[in-house]
Amino acid sequence: MNRGEPYQHQARKRFGQNFLVNHHVIDKIIAAIAPKPGQNIIEIGPGHGAITEPILAKCPSLKVVELDRDLIPILREKFVDYPDFQIHQGDALKTDFAQFYQPGQAMRIIGNLPYNISTPLIFHLLGFSQQIEDMHFMLQKEVVDRLAASPNDKSYGRLSVMVQYYSHVQPLFKVPPTAFRPTPKVESAIVRLLPYSQPPIIANDLKLLTKLVSASFQQRRKTMRNTLKHMLDSVQLEQLDIDISLRPQNLSVADFVHLSNQIGALQ
Ligand code: SAM
Repeated sequence: MNRGEPYQHQARKRFGQNFLVNHHVIDKIIAAIAPKPGQNIIEIGPGHGAITEPILAKCPSLKVVELDRDLIPILREKFVDYPDFQIHQGDALKTDFAQFYQPGQAMRIIGNLPYNISTPLIFHLLGFSQQIEDMHFMLQKEVVDRLAASPNDKSYGRLSVMVQYYSHVQPLFKVPPTAFRPTPKVESAIVRLLPYSQPPIIANDLKLLTKLVSASFQQRRKTMRNTLKHMLDSVQLEQLDIDISLRPQNLSVADFVHLSNQIGALQ
């Protein structure tokens, strides 16, 4: 089932390079993405092209963003028969994804993401969520658990609240370490993120929501009263209509948005 190590390229740890080699897993990922001709698909970190190749076969106008300069000529040579294939060498964290958007053609973002940058990369991409149709990512399973967690779950935190504010999160399936070369130490999983065209509950001030959620989970064992007393005086605290004796992990995404809107109105 496993494909051999294809090219003369040493996997680089600093680029989070764990290449997919299991054919069965690759097929499952492609089935979940269901690429179609003419779609505006952008792959982050194509590596040697394990996912790129089957996507290109279905959607020849695929674009990729790859940081490792040594992989660029390998990709060019491998996919020479696809004239519409576009390779962008650079750091996805610094990439302005709006450049890939075309009116009427929302972006579909995919990638077996380098684990060391997956969280900041998801936050970076959420900045373009209005132009994104969906995202399919391979991540550490523990990160997928955090993305999908509900209030009171052990994994529920800042990442859950902020990503769920922008998008519906669907964990799809687990992937064992043996599907990669080199073999990572942890289990992975595929997740689908579906950004809302409009969040179900709108935060009037996104910066304030972000600040509130970060401050709350920095001290997750403290009650909301303790966190909020740095933002509001005691009279204002009594005007809030959530129970401030709760801890942040007890509050839903809607509670956080509602609370940030109330704080904004009181400040
Ligand atoms: N897609 C390939 C696969 O599934 O076999 C490779 C996946 S590997 C986990 C992550 C890929 O992301 C590598 O090709 C790595 O060079 C690339 N990468 C790492 N950091 C990056 C960044 N900041 N921007 C774009 N690509 C990056």
